[in-house]
Amino acid sequence: MDPTDIAALSSIIGEEARVVTEPSVVEQFSRDFYWYSPVLRKQLDGKIGEIVVQPLNKQEIQNVLRYCHGRDIAVTTRGAGTGNYGQAIPLHGGVILDLMRMDKIDAIQPDGVAVCDPGVRLGVLENEAHKCGWELRCYPSTIVKASLGGFLGGGSGGIGSVANGNLRDFNTVRALEVVTMEPEPRVVFHEGEAVHEILHAWGTNGIITRIWLALAPAVDWSQCVAAFGSFDAAFDFSERVATDAGWTKRLVTTFEWPIPSFFTPVRQYAPEDKSLIFFMIATEQLSSLESAARQSGGEVTYSGAYYGLRTRPLLSDYTWNHTTLWAMTADEAYTYLQCGFDPVTVREQFRQLKERFGKEILFHMEFMKNGVGQVIPGAIPVVYFVSEDRLNEMIDFCREIGVFVANPHVNNVEGGGRYRADNIQLLAKQRYDPKGLLNPGKMATFQPQIHAMETKNQ
Ligand code: FAD
Repeated sequence: MDPTDIAALSSIIGEEARVVTEPSVVEQFSRDFYWYSPVLRKQLDGKIGEIVVQPLNKQEIQNVLRYCHGRDIAVTTRGAGTGNYGQAIPLHGGVILDLMRMDKIDAIQPDGVAVCDPGVRLGVLENEAHKCGWELRCYPSTIVKASLGGFLGGGSGGIGSVANGNLRDFNTVRALEVVTMEPEPRVVFHEGEAVHEILHAWGTNGIITRIWLALAPAVDWSQCVAAFGSFDAAFDFSERVATDAGWTKRLVTTFEWPIPSFFTPVRQYAPEDKSLIFFMIATEQLSSLESAARQSGGEVTYSGAYYGLRTRPLLSDYTWNHTTLWAMTADEAYTYLQCGFDPVTVREQFRQLKERFGKEILFHMEFMKNGVGQVIPGAIPVVYFVSEDRLNEMIDFCREIGVFVANPHVNNVEGGGRYRADNIQLLAKQRYDPKGLLNPGKMATFQPQIHAMETKNQ
């Protein structure tokens, strides 16, 4: 980009406060949580954009994209920047399109569908939905910071997925609207199955500017922690609760010791050498859950009311990918994988992994419902990083024994485990971004028509 581009983009936005060119600030807007992965850290350190623009509406987005299309300038869309695969890191400089100022909730409809701008923070949406008797079907443990657009663009599921599946399941994303990267950027409506062309595409095939998101009826939740003498006993009990539809739950997370020892603020609920389960359970079932845990040999070390995201302790702060963060805080050599175990052979898979890798892999299980309604043992195991070769050996071994791995150590859409054989995300990119200017370099199967990016900021 040259100074005339900076001047033109500034005048398109027309408000100084919404254009950032100060290099140290642009650098901050160029980062996300890619450093979770020692592999990505090496690849992505130092990649930065050249200007940040903060549009307020889709017309401004169209104006920015029209200009960038004409000048072959890369555009990387960004929500709150909490993605952990470097999804929002600009590989080829250019514009960072920060959508956090587009943060309106237009409606929480009586049928439980929220109509929102992309920059709405998920925590705000959860609170607003609650006022109308609804709640998010699923959310990442970064709920307080993360945006809805970023969740659709780069996330998958989280708390609530044990009951409601992931974002891609059960028509949770009813519809969305995207702005295209063409000479004259269009606004295109995607509904039903067509939302999958855009979901989890990392902003490579359109900018999501409006979202229709299905919610779940709100439940009065409580939190509970149960400790067990062995990981096997904890897993057995958590699996029983997770798979039995009689329990109304939002979170069932199981940790092998010593993972609980990393959770400094709630260390008092983690007896030495015990494996823990963290639950969010319907308040009306709390005492039954406590009794069932005790009958199965567990000790209830904490239970209490949940009154929203300000609840302390907030157990979700230690689950999903927050677990990895606590492990890395304890010892920066820890990293992670994202796995799906086989519900039938899961115990044998555990045994084989332990036999081969011992304490290099620590089990952290997250139960989730899949698209056909079966609750399966997902996992975000904590992995002690020795070398890239050893990490790849572990991934290969997982796949050999039937454990699905969505590899979080690769920086492209397809490599992360969401690749579909029909590659509908690529087909949408060919239609909506034929020059390959949206988050370039992140869709491995895409061949741009013009190789304008190759010389920029390598
Ligand atoms: P960003 O990081 O800003 O963007 C993510 C991707 O979406 C980028 O590729 C970006 O280009 C694209 N994007 C952003 N906005 C748009 C838009 N409007 N249109 C098109 N593309 C867009 N994820 C989970 O799914 N579940 C978890 O439980 C979870 N836990 C996490 C815990 C920690 C501690 C961390 C660091 C991350 C975790 N994540 C999790 C990843 C991430 O926090 C979530 O996916 C979050 O929803 C991303 O939102 P964001 O606003 O930060 O998106």
